[in-house]
Amino acid sequence: MGFITITGLKIFAHHGVLEEEKRNGQDFYVNAKLYYDMEKATKTDEVTDAVHYGEVCQFMTGFLQENTYKLLERAVAETMKAVLIAFPMLEGIDMELCKPHAPIPLPFENVSVTGSLRWHKAYLAIGSNMGEKEKYLEDAVQTLRKDTDFRAVRTSSWMVTEPYGGVEQDDFLNGAMEVQTLLAPHALLDRLHEIEARAGRERLVHWGPRTLDLDIIFYDEEMINETDLIVPHMDMANRRFVLQPLCELAPAYLHPILNKTVKQMLDELAE
Ligand code: ATP
Ligand code: CA
Ligand code: CA
Repeated sequence: MGFITITGLKIFAHHGVLEEEKRNGQDFYVNAKLYYDMEKATKTDEVTDAVHYGEVCQFMTGFLQENTYKLLERAVAETMKAVLIAFPMLEGIDMELCKPHAPIPLPFENVSVTGSLRWHKAYLAIGSNMGEKEKYLEDAVQTLRKDTDFRAVRTSSWMVTEPYGGVEQDDFLNGAMEVQTLLAPHALLDRLHEIEARAGRERLVHWGPRTLDLDIIFYDEEMINETDLIVPHMDMANRRFVLQPLCELAPAYLHPILNKTVKQMLDELAE
């Protein structure tokens, strides 16, 4: 991974809270770092293998002129997301938006807001054991494919499994998914809960019947231990219905705490 640096891109635009800022506009300046895997470009010396920084500058200029935001924070967040979606070769972006003529009645040099956004790789477990199970799984996949916060959605095959956790209920249809997402872990969990809710998920009995269950198995190499979110998923190493489909997608993925690959965990479970 390497990065391209852009400094002092001047853009006349209309962001601000005050009426006169929206009416009159002012000069903004962008500093940005564009992260991407430049190994290919270093070898081929072909422009098509590189991120075209001129186009990125044009794009950011157009985006910040066509849209008006009250807050620099929002302007930065929306611009970063738009850039990452418009330039798929990019893995991430850091962006500073400077407003040297901000309405502060004091002598000052500059005010700016800096943000950072990148594509993260996550693995999800998906399951259903009520109603049209396959449709619930397929609908969830489609929802993620249509969502601009996700890309490169891959799915395992679906497998029928017996219920887990001792509650008497119908068989499950389970699978795994690999996604790239712009969402931070908690935002990802919230998005998954929204999708479950739209599938009519009710939480009545723990480990009980459900139309749709979406769990986060891995999120990059992150280790998260909070009351509402534990990543990697706490019980994954004991669950064939998680490991087997996951092994179709990422056999060599390393569990950051157990230090074992998915394939190893699955093999140990088989013994
Ligand atoms: P299990 O997590 O053992 O598979 P479950 O999926 O049936 O059980 P749910 O009722 O769907 O459990 O979720 C209960 C809570 O688990 C969620 O509200 C969420 O806050 C929390 N949770 C903790 N870690 C995770 C994770 N990695 N993925 C999804 N939910 C998680
Ligand atoms: Ca679960
Ligand atoms: Ca769950």
